[in-house]
Amino acid sequence: MTDSTSQNPLNQYFNGTYPKQYQETPGIQGKMDPLPDCGETSYKGSGKLIGRKALITGGDSGIGRAAAIAYAREGADVAINYLPEEQPDAEEVKELIEAEGRKAVLIPGDLSDESFCQDLVKQAYTELDGLDVLTLVAGQQQAVKDITELPTDQLRKTFEVNVFSLFWVVKAALPYLPKGASIITTTSVQSFDPSPILLDYAASKFAITGFTRGLAKQLAPKGIRVNSVAPGPIWTPLQITGAQPSEAIPEFGQQVPLKRAGQPVELADVYVFLASTSSSYVTAQVYGVTGGTEIA
Ligand code: NAD
Ligand code: MG
Repeated sequence: MTDSTSQNPLNQYFNGTYPKQYQETPGIQGKMDPLPDCGETSYKGSGKLIGRKALITGGDSGIGRAAAIAYAREGADVAINYLPEEQPDAEEVKELIEAEGRKAVLIPGDLSDESFCQDLVKQAYTELDGLDVLTLVAGQQQAVKDITELPTDQLRKTFEVNVFSLFWVVKAALPYLPKGASIITTTSVQSFDPSPILLDYAASKFAITGFTRGLAKQLAPKGIRVNSVAPGPIWTPLQITGAQPSEAIPEFGQQVPLKRAGQPVELADVYVFLASTSSSYVTAQVYGVTGGTEIA
């Protein structure tokens, strides 16, 4: 009989205690312990995105990197955006994409700047020679225990990066997007069950869910689908750069029904599905990848 432990979701990926660690935001994935699994050695493609041209924000690390690797292995050319400090992570992703024989375009820059968002889209469209998948993953999250201590600068930045940039990128991209294009945003379980220490972040994620559902209705007549992914606790640089109090890192993720944090690669198939023609009848939806926490 074959050993089926590798199929047990409780221990299919790391389910131990994480070492306490902290980096300044945005953090470098390559310095994390253990390294997140973004599918570098495990994701296998099967031609689901042949010929597609995707822009992925936050594509250097974590969930965005998992989407970038998977898209390239499914046959897409990929442009990724990230912050300039994240160049080492971005270079690794470029190598992984090129190893699949796909085109990789690196476009560093700050999404809280509207004119950069416009340039980003133009550059992605020009260098990829087309654009038909927008996978918007970048986000910022900083925990603050008390609303009276939430700096207005942080509040503004959270909304600029997590919400305003979606409006700016989509506005800039619409003239380029053909019928059949797919837009994927990244919300969170926080959009359904907000934590008391993540008020600005959770509110921004509620906004992303609302934006996604409304935009899907607006763009349906154009033949463009819009959906969102709602991750639960996933082991990424975001978490060790202030998204959680550092004392919460060792047991990060253990509170969900599957009793462990997820790895970015566990979201890859959902981002692929939503980008691909297999999801032709799916729009205005939110897909949870949460380890068992319900979203509604
Ligand atoms: P991550 O740190 O790997 O990715 C976040 C990325 O956002 C960074 O790599 C960075 O490139 C980008 N970013 C941040 N500020 C930016 C700015 N001003 N301009 C341009 N890019 C900027 O972490 P992740 O967990 O993979 O995060 C990806 C998305 O998943 C985020 O939207 C996050 O809110 C969401 N999410 C994560 C979790 C989780 O547990 N990790 C849970 C729910 C939702
Ligand atoms: Mg990063």
